[in-house]
Amino acid sequence: MFRIFKNKFLCFSLIILTLGVLFYVVNYTPLVHITSTNTDSHKSYATTYEYFQEKMNEHEQLTWDIVQTDTRVTKDECFQKQKKDYPAYKKSLEKNWQYKRSHYPKLKQETITIVKDVLRDFDINPADIQIVPYKGKGSPAAADDSTIFIDEDECAHFSLEACKFVIAHEISHLQAQDESLYQSLYSLSQTKRTSKRKKKEALEAFRRFQETRADICALLHGGKKYAQGAFDFMYKLQELDGGDNPGITHPKTSIRLKNARKLCTMMGWNVPALQA
Ligand SMILES: [Zn+2]
Repeated sequence: MFRIFKNKFLCFSLIILTLGVLFYVVNYTPLVHITSTNTDSHKSYATTYEYFQEKMNEHEQLTWDIVQTDTRVTKDECFQKQKKDYPAYKKSLEKNWQYKRSHYPKLKQETITIVKDVLRDFDINPADIQIVPYKGKGSPAAADDSTIFIDEDECAHFSLEACKFVIAHEISHLQAQDESLYQSLYSLSQTKRTSKRKKKEALEAFRRFQETRADICALLHGGKKYAQGAFDFMYKLQELDGGDNPGITHPKTSIRLKNARKLCTMMGWNVPALQA
């Protein structure tokens, strides 16, 4: 046994092996385990996907707990109202995009092509979605449950990749039917007798959850090609805002960047550098 230690090469190998095992044990998490032992990129993708899915579920549960405590609206109650109001809501959407189409200049064909390409990346048939001009007050795009709104003037402030990320983020809102759900929650909360301040804060917490989920879904479902755009968009947002936003209806941009950085790192994507 002691002869091993007299052989410098064997001794060195033994130290490296021990350090390797120690490093593996210290850093062990189910995700690291699977990604480091499996070269099948699909499996590592699925695992990171599951990790973020679980984190989003936890965040959602926590948010509904706050909502229930502070507005007295339950999750079931909210989803039931959303379902009941949906036919009327759909009609109001149609009026909205018809109005915008007749009041704002037509979108360029190349803009429509970009939106359609992003929709296809999210397995949505562009024929099912209205693509409509609007005035965004700081955002290149917005969405309700069946419309993507684009402000070409706002798009000019951001890189093409950043705009594509924002469209992907908006598509995630659309897929989750975030707008109608928020409206149901808002109108139900107004019928409950609770502290106005707490109600307002709970509604804002709900919006921030929806925004966080839209960011994560845009990257998880859109994939690596949307990563550069996420960083381009958020860095530019900080530049335009002169730092972080107040973090009321949207999480602070620094928190959004942190989430995006974590997701990209776990996916094994290079965290994109800020473009000059
Ligand atoms: Zn959003």
